Amino acid sequence: MGDTGVGARRADFELFARHVSPGKAAFFERAGIDFALGRREGAFLWDVEGARRLIDCHCNGGVFNLGHRNPEVVAALGGALETLDIGNHHLVSGRRARLAELLARLTPGELPFTVFGVSGGEAVDLAIKVARAFTGRTDIVSARGGYHGHTGLALAAGDEKYRAPFGPPACGFHQVPFGDAAALGTALAGDVAAVLLETVPATLGMPIADNDYFPRVRELCDEAGALLILDEVQAGLGRTGRLWGIEHYAVGPDILVVGKGLSGGVYPMTATCLRRGLETVFDADPFIHISTFGGAEVGCPVATRVLEISSEPAFLEHVRCLADVFAAGFEELRGRHPTVLVGLRQLGLMMGIELVHPALGPALSKTAYDAGLLAVFANNDPGVVQLLPPLVIDAGLAGEILERLEVALTALERIAPTVVELS
Ligand code: PMP
Repeated sequence: MGDTGVGARRADFELFARHVSPGKAAFFERAGIDFALGRREGAFLWDVEGARRLIDCHCNGGVFNLGHRNPEVVAALGGALETLDIGNHHLVSGRRARLAELLARLTPGELPFTVFGVSGGEAVDLAIKVARAFTGRTDIVSARGGYHGHTGLALAAGDEKYRAPFGPPACGFHQVPFGDAAALGTALAGDVAAVLLETVPATLGMPIADNDYFPRVRELCDEAGALLILDEVQAGLGRTGRLWGIEHYAVGPDILVVGKGLSGGVYPMTATCLRRGLETVFDADPFIHISTFGGAEVGCPVATRVLEISSEPAFLEHVRCLADVFAAGFEELRGRHPTVLVGLRQLGLMMGIELVHPALGPALSKTAYDAGLLAVFANNDPGVVQLLPPLVIDAGLAGEILERLEVALTALERIAPTVVELS
């Protein structure tokens, strides 16, 4: 334990297989990804033996938007640990209230109330509970291939393949194709409590909705008396070049779900932000929803610092400049690798590398790994590889990522015919 010398990787794999997940350990061995996580700093991850360095273009879906162990974030947590702990979830807490106030100031539209949690799934579950309690309706419409977490209601709103082995389906959940307003209109004909959508569905390979999609979704929800829940667990906190992805569409949700990056990568924190009126579902019994660790006081200074950094105009401008670097870089890559690369799906630094065949996403994840990049294919559209670098990298490192992708795509071209044939 704690050993980082030669043999540490093998030891970690064996222990992990014995006590955590034999399936995952075997998967990575089969894939030739012999990497056990060691040191991490900024945009970089090192193997436990220190021999291999990766540029993190996965970032756990946005947890590491500000890089690994961002000094300002680490300092916020260090300072908090001097005097604070989890706190008590039953008691009034000024720290939690001030964080909720900051969220109210920064979130789109008017969302003055926040319920805190520790995972995105929990935050989505709560959003669905609130929608059901408020409307007195049961049905939830979400996008096919969308992803909202692996907890109860969030799982029910997600893709079939994640729930099939786990017992009978929950009732009241319906799915429509993302980006298809007509299909949504049809689904809203019944009594629907809420429409739940990711602004950019990451697990579906980053399809970018047309400009008129979300405004139309908003209209359809209003006409049907359904709430609009936006899951910005990945798209929020500056990832798209605006603080919230939905700002690109000038639409306000009834409920906004924030997660991942709010943690600063060091202390779990999620938020379900509610528009005025929705808080009344807790009037009769304010203790009817509880999260022991949700909104932990020691995490509040961390989340506050994350929000302060991420909402800086210069920070968001930097994200948009980096997005231009990647857009230009991919135009060139597309010209050089037309047999494998379709192009880049992109809203700011929410990016998906679209390939010509579904078997090529996993293959590019491997050639990218060999070229020094951690970039993972989209589980619900494996023909796309998610590209989510930290938002704080400089243009030089963006250029290096593009150079490494050049290497990875060249290697992919060589193996693509065999990979496709065997698929
Ligand atoms: N929503 C989205 C869009 C996500 O990407 C995820 C996690 N990948 C979740 C919700 C669930 O978050 P958590 O894993 O923290 O429960």
